[in-house]
Amino acid sequence: MSFSKAEKVIEQLKNNGYDAYIVGGVVRDLLLKKPLGDIDIATSALPEDVQRIFEKTIPVGIEHGTVIVRMDGESYEVTTFRKEGKYEDYRHPSEVEFHDSIEVDLSRRDFTINAMALRQDGTVFDPFGGKKDLEKKLIRAVGNPQERFREDPLRMMRALRFLSALGFSLDNETYKALKMNAELLNKISVERIREEFEKLLAGLHCEEALQFILEAELDQYLPNGPFEFEVNPAVFKWETLSSNEERWAAFLLSMGISNPFDWLHAWKPSNQKRKQVSHLVDLYRDDPEFKNPVTIYKNGLERLSSVMRLKQFFGNQVSTTRKEMDAIYERLPIHKRSELAVDGNDLQAQVKQPPGPWIAELLETIECRVVTGTLKNDPGEIKEWITQCNQAQENG
Ligand code: ATP
Ligand code: MG
Repeated sequence: MSFSKAEKVIEQLKNNGYDAYIVGGVVRDLLLKKPLGDIDIATSALPEDVQRIFEKTIPVGIEHGTVIVRMDGESYEVTTFRKEGKYEDYRHPSEVEFHDSIEVDLSRRDFTINAMALRQDGTVFDPFGGKKDLEKKLIRAVGNPQERFREDPLRMMRALRFLSALGFSLDNETYKALKMNAELLNKISVERIREEFEKLLAGLHCEEALQFILEAELDQYLPNGPFEFEVNPAVFKWETLSSNEERWAAFLLSMGISNPFDWLHAWKPSNQKRKQVSHLVDLYRDDPEFKNPVTIYKNGLERLSSVMRLKQFFGNQVSTTRKEMDAIYERLPIHKRSELAVDGNDLQAQVKQPPGPWIAELLETIECRVVTGTLKNDPGEIKEWITQCNQAQENG
């Protein structure tokens, strides 16, 4: 993301007689000197004006006033100034009203720290005191928090995910309104809740945010709530985890969920994520030996590294390093089953028994022996070993 290219977009809008600003999260992060995410632009130009002015545009959400402008290989979301519409279904405003004032647009945003606009000269338009709240480390709803949470209850989850990311506190009135309206989370789709919850899990202050959820009893309105989560800031080290899957696994393990695959169903993640998370949880519970070549062969370096980080998360000392695992992996005679010198057909041709589960079992035994180096990955030697086994069986 580049500011100068965003400036070019703004310049072009202005040259056409429209008002335009960089707005939202990026202004907040700029003032906090944090790494910047996507650059959003708000403008008085209508979507059709934006499409006319720029060569390359993608109409991603015309009905909400959003057009993506491609500028020198980068994308910018350009959204027409909006007024807060009526939220009849607790999901989306039933009508979107475009407006020509940046102040009105900022007034519909969720929190003061997200309701600032960057002017072209580098100064900040801040009608709701966002800068002051940044200094005081406060998350405060724009306007009346009760009304804002009732308009869109997802904002309650957003408050907690910003708390988790920034380590801020909730302003008193905002906190009270959140506690009083928690039940409205029932109205929000699981997908939208999950998206904010995953961002919450990724925050450096996740533990505080989870504690907050318990305190405000928000958990009873989340999928599979209430949670049996014990907040334990002294032990859990969220910063050691490096992926969304690892964070889910840590969360589920800390609650002692016995069947993570089933548990996750209510949160509607992709099937792939459900599988990956439950694999991690199961493997963690197996307490794998990180230096064991078969363990490394079967699970792969990435998954084992994830389990290592989970061990560290729970305060365990891990004596194996990733470097050591890499070295063991490098030395493995084979890295996947297709590299084995024999396959199921070879076994059947040699043993001359009707096909059955024995083929897979024998293959796995051979694979294990090859991986541990007790059998050479060579068709002749494997054949010889099978013959010896059969003889031993006949004799025994
Ligand atoms: P991040 O850096 O994590 O993306 P962000 O502040 O950019 O944080 P987004 O979810 O990308 O958060 O939203 C962009 C902006 O849109 C917010 O800063 C806020 O001004 C506004 N916004 C988003 N969702 C809502 C909402 N539910 N109600 C009101 N304003 C919202
Ligand atoms: Mg954003």
